[in-house]
Amino acid sequence: MPTDKLLLDSMRDYISQIREEGMDGLPMKDRPINLARDDIRRTAIIDKPQTTIATPSAQAVSSVQLFSKYPGLEKTGDLAELQSFIGNCTRCKLHGGRTNLVFGVGDPKAELMFIGEGPGADEDAKGEPFVGRAGQLLTDIIERGMGMQRAEVYICNVVKCRPPGNRNPEPDEVEACEPFLFRQIEIVKPRVIVGLGTFAVQSVLKIKTPISKLRGNWHEVRGIKMMPTFHPAYLLRNPGDKRLVWSDIQEVMKSLGRSIPGRARP
Ligand code: URA
Repeated sequence: MPTDKLLLDSMRDYISQIREEGMDGLPMKDRPINLARDDIRRTAIIDKPQTTIATPSAQAVSSVQLFSKYPGLEKTGDLAELQSFIGNCTRCKLHGGRTNLVFGVGDPKAELMFIGEGPGADEDAKGEPFVGRAGQLLTDIIERGMGMQRAEVYICNVVKCRPPGNRNPEPDEVEACEPFLFRQIEIVKPRVIVGLGTFAVQSVLKIKTPISKLRGNWHEVRGIKMMPTFHPAYLLRNPGDKRLVWSDIQEVMKSLGRSIPGRARP
C-alpha cells in the first residue's frame, strides 16, 4: 500500500479513536500533538464513572413536541407504517449520497435494542444496519457472547442514511432523523437499549460526556433503560477494551433476567 494511503488510514483511525473517547478535536497549543495512545486512554478514564441513571433535562421533550415536526408520525402504529411514513426521505441533505435508506432490522417486539450511529458503506449498499466488519463483531457479541440470535434483537441507527466519507452526522441531520428513532423505540418498546459508541449515546442523551465515563452505568432514553458501551468499530481497533463491553453486556443480561452462557466471550 502506498505510504500516503497508510498515513491517511492511520490518521483516520487515530481521529476516530479520540472521537470515540470523547475528544472533539486534536490538541492545538498547550499539549504536544503527538499524544501517545496510552495518554489519551488515561485522560479518558481519569474521572470516576457515575453509578446512577442520568436523565438529562434536555431529554424531557414530550412525544407531542418531538413528533410535531412531522404531523402524522405519532399515528404510525407499527414499524411497517413508520417505514412507509419515512418513505423515500429527502428531509435532510444525507439523502443525496445514499444508495439505500437503512431503517432497522430485527424482531419488531424485541426486548433488546441496539442503537448505532449511522450506516457505513456496507450498510448503505445492503440497506441493513451493522453488516460490515463492525457489524460482524456486533453479531458475535449477540450470538456468541449473549447466546441470542441476531434476529431476536432490534438493531437501528440514529441517522438512517450514510454520512459521506463516514463522517459523524451533523446536528441538522440528527434533528431531522431522531423523531424516527424515537418512534421506533416507542413502537418496539424494548426493555433495554444498548447505545453503541460516543455519537449514538451522546445524541440520544443530549450530552457531551465521553463514552468512557458513560459506559457501565444505566441511563434512560424515553423511559427505557439504556446501557452505553463502546462501538464495535472502536473494539476492532482496541480489542483490549472488549472486556469492558463484556462487563456492560453482562449487566444487560442480568437486567433482562437472562443467564450468561458459559462459552468463551467474543
Ligand atoms: N456503524 C454504525 O454505527 N451503524 C451501522 O449500521 C454500521 C456501522
